[in-house]
Amino acid sequence: MPYNKFEEYNMQVTDDVKTRYKHIINDLGEDTQREGLLKTPERAAKAMQFLTQGYDQDPVEILKGAMFKESYNEMVIVKDIELYSLCEHHILPFFGKAHIAYIPNGHIVGLSKLPRIVDVFARRLQVQERLTEQILDCINDTLQPQGVAVVIEAAHMCMMMRGVQKQNSTTTTSGFRGQFEKIETRNEFLKLIGK
Ligand SMILES: [Zn+2]
Repeated sequence: MPYNKFEEYNMQVTDDVKTRYKHIINDLGEDTQREGLLKTPERAAKAMQFLTQGYDQDPVEILKGAMFKESYNEMVIVKDIELYSLCEHHILPFFGKAHIAYIPNGHIVGLSKLPRIVDVFARRLQVQERLTEQILDCINDTLQPQGVAVVIEAAHMCMMMRGVQKQNSTTTTSGFRGQFEKIETRNEFLKLIGK
């Protein structure tokens, strides 16, 4: 077989979380012995481990593994990066798009690494503000570019499904370092991502 995708879960964690999910489902008034729910605690335990796998991943290593000396010094933009995270206040999803730009300073980074570091930070319990800043700081500190910019637009299920039930609101956060602190550079970036 040329390609074999497999998922690995920590058995101990899976068992512990599974047991707790069983209690939670019971507490919510369901019957955990009902056929459709028999394997749900285990599936949910695995899903949560997948969605929080970022704690075990090192974004600095990922970036450093694909940095190349290069004299190109114009703006590099990766836009519309799909993003799925969990809000740390309700453990409900928020999802949307990230747009990242940087201006190299002697080094460029493999383009696929930018979506990967978005995933590393997104697959943790998060708030959108901190997620934005962590991506920004990681690129800034590791690649040390002339400037870096991050914009995230996301819809939060905790707002849409409960509480204020605002179905059509999205939250935008942004952060800028170096050259992007200049209004012209920032505006060029925002124009290029269609903002
Ligand atoms: Zn929330």
